[in-house]
Amino acid sequence: MSSLDGIKMPGRLPLLLTHERVLLPGSTVRFNVDTPRNMHLIKNRLLKGTSLKSTFIGVIPNTRDPANDADDLPTLHKIGTAGIAVQVVGSNWPKPHYTLLITGLCRFSVSSLLTERPFVLAEVEQLDKLEQYTTPAEGVSAEDGELQELSQKFYQTALQLLGMLDMSVPVVAKFRHLLDSLPKETLPDVVAAMIRTSNKEKLQVLDAVSLEERFRKTLPLLTRQIEGLKLLQQTRRMMPDPEKKVLSVRKGGVFPERHFSLNEEDDEDDSDDTTSLERKVHAANMPDAALRVCLKELKRLKKMSQSMPEYALTRNYLDLMVELPWSKSTKDCLDIQAARTLLDNDHYAMDKLKRRVLEYLAVRQLKASLKGPILCFVGPPGVGKTSVGRSIAKTLGREFHRIALGGVCDQSDIRGHRRTYVGSMPGRIINGLKTVGVNNPVFLLDEVDKLGKSLQGDPAAALLEVLDPEQNHSFTDHYLNVAFDLSQVLFIATANTTATIPPALLDRMEVLQVPGYTQEEKVEISLRHLIPNQMEQHGLSSKQLHIPSDTTKDIINSYTREAGVRSLERKIGAICRAVAVKIAEVQTDSKTKGVTGEGHTQQGAEKAAPPAMPIVIDHGALKDILGTPPFDMEVSERLTLPGVALGLAWTPLGGEIMFVEASQTEGEGQLTLTGQLGDVMKESAHLSISWLRANAKRYRLTNMVGGPDPLEGTDIHLHFPAGAVTKDGPSAGVTIVTCLASLFSGRLVRSDVAMTGEITLRGLVLPVGGIKDKVLAAHRAGVKRVIVPKRNEKDLEELPANVRDDLDFVAAADLDQVLNAAFDGGFPGTGRMHERPQLSSKL
Ligand code: ADP
Repeated sequence: MSSLDGIKMPGRLPLLLTHERVLLPGSTVRFNVDTPRNMHLIKNRLLKGTSLKSTFIGVIPNTRDPANDADDLPTLHKIGTAGIAVQVVGSNWPKPHYTLLITGLCRFSVSSLLTERPFVLAEVEQLDKLEQYTTPAEGVSAEDGELQELSQKFYQTALQLLGMLDMSVPVVAKFRHLLDSLPKETLPDVVAAMIRTSNKEKLQVLDAVSLEERFRKTLPLLTRQIEGLKLLQQTRRMMPDPEKKVLSVRKGGVFPERHFSLNEEDDEDDSDDTTSLERKVHAANMPDAALRVCLKELKRLKKMSQSMPEYALTRNYLDLMVELPWSKSTKDCLDIQAARTLLDNDHYAMDKLKRRVLEYLAVRQLKASLKGPILCFVGPPGVGKTSVGRSIAKTLGREFHRIALGGVCDQSDIRGHRRTYVGSMPGRIINGLKTVGVNNPVFLLDEVDKLGKSLQGDPAAALLEVLDPEQNHSFTDHYLNVAFDLSQVLFIATANTTATIPPALLDRMEVLQVPGYTQEEKVEISLRHLIPNQMEQHGLSSKQLHIPSDTTKDIINSYTREAGVRSLERKIGAICRAVAVKIAEVQTDSKTKGVTGEGHTQQGAEKAAPPAMPIVIDHGALKDILGTPPFDMEVSERLTLPGVALGLAWTPLGGEIMFVEASQTEGEGQLTLTGQLGDVMKESAHLSISWLRANAKRYRLTNMVGGPDPLEGTDIHLHFPAGAVTKDGPSAGVTIVTCLASLFSGRLVRSDVAMTGEITLRGLVLPVGGIKDKVLAAHRAGVKRVIVPKRNEKDLEELPANVRDDLDFVAAADLDQVLNAAFDGGFPGTGRMHERPQLSSKL
């Protein structure tokens, strides 16, 4: 301890609030630190590059469980022990915490608290000498005869205890060494920490500031220990032989090790700990291989001192192993009829998806095996993919757990870190199993299309192993390092697009497309599910709020533009909140009415009037609550100039309408493209111009100077609004041609037409993907006619009947037909040409 020479205890100490253990000067105790204040203390004071040795910490007992210290400061004991940290070990499992080993040096009392956050800092007064542990003293000063006597008596009693113990036990040898070497005045603290004493007794010793009192307090504890031992010896003598053995196996046999505590740590709890851990290991019902590993680790743990960093690691590992549901599972209660009802009750529409899910479940019922493709729901956000997954778990009576894979780019996220790493932990699969506590949950692998890749390995490869029925019965997480059987887990994946799902992964999955909803479907979903759900969540009843279906339509058309219903749900939530405030205001107003008296404002008087119930949300109220509609601009309003056409685009978020604008100026035949276009889109633009140049004469297109070549003496600028969003893909070909044809002919494109299709240099229209989503987007935007490639005609059958009825489809095989359908009365030069007066010849 001479290393402490010259160190002075500061007048201000950061305080570690403890609940379960008492640190006495001269002993070393391990604390588990997991409360916010204590964690801050460690981070700020011990882990910021300063030497541990030079940082004093005040350890102060408090009256209540420190887990609750997040808000109010618990009442602190008046006396604490200042000490220095010997070691800090951090771990992330099962939650972030530190293990802190502190050696106590001297008592202090708190004079005043300086700060309470982020950790407690206090002005303190030192109560004992610090030197007693740092420099050997001559013992209790000779002047005080009574004290001298007491200390001598204490020493003798301690020796007596020592005489009853087995010297071959290391901790006893250490006790003896301490008795011989430490100054006598330190003995009460040291001995009280070593013998069997309760926390309350230790607190009394801590409170005994005067040395005399300390001796008096500790002496009975020491005597008690001796008496206890004597009693044990007697019992042993009276016992038949075999039982003696059970009582103790040591030479002199009366002193089971548990009756004695190590200096460094409170061994009493720990041996209990490891025993209970061992019990749990056996009770966990794990496979032999795992059991063997656990027993081996347990053996190592028992030999380890708690101050070793590895102790915490091994302990955490074993804690996880015993918690994992090796053989715990729920019983499937599948009834197809009930499943159908439940799916129907929870979800409106999505018939195809529900049918396929029921088939899947039915097959499972007949053939109690999960081998087969993994279902993967692909569709825009907010169309109910997660929600269907949850319903599947419900119908099966299984636990449900969602694993978000978006942005995961490290395979150890899936498969865990090896235990050799600092802060290593298991992957999300094992973590999920621990959370649900059974080995046959439904795992929803959310957003498999957004898996990343990095130097840390490919998470998709790890997922492959998880999903492969041939391999997943022995899935080995790096952290566990023993196989866990995942074959009972039901995996379901979701994605916005299949394009970015790694092909090997896609190969293992059966893709079920979940398209966006039509306006009518959204209205129904709102009425049946979203509005009742939101009202319930906000504590509103149908007697208080009514949202008519016209208002719902208004929200759908003017406030949201999405394929799913997520933002619709949010808007309904906003309405519920506004109404809840209104109702709460009236209630408090009517309560305080009369108290406020004359000071009532006009507004106050209005509020006090009970509103007519239910509050009906009409168009005006909607505007009040949600503000002016963001999507009010009609498509037709934007198509009022030649050189604008409406295309349809597909994005992972669903279909979207997309304007294409063109302008021409005098120049040298330059083409400028703006709007963040990808290469394919740029090529489409060049292709369109080439085709128009080649066919200019036939369509009677003219450039600015009246010549037949559109580019001669003319610069063209093509722009795709929503300029910040990157756009790519070939399907804008027909739209660009139409837009340019409008520009060069000076004719307006029909204001209710949208189109999609890839073009060839010869003017053919090729099929494109995402027709269903695109048509739904057109329908949402109020378009009446949709031009689609001829070869996509079959895709139209998948559309809901009401959408098909509302729209007029033109299936175009070549650009002639596109132009003919896009312009009122057809286009000059096309097969079924109808001349129409030109609205303007130039821009
Ligand atoms: P996703 O996983 O596709 O992004 P969610 O499952 O999270 O979407 O759905 C968003 C919300 O919309 C949920 O509250 C869900 O209950 C609701 N929802 C979506 N589709 C339907 C439907 N067809 N019927 C009832 N509610 C639906």
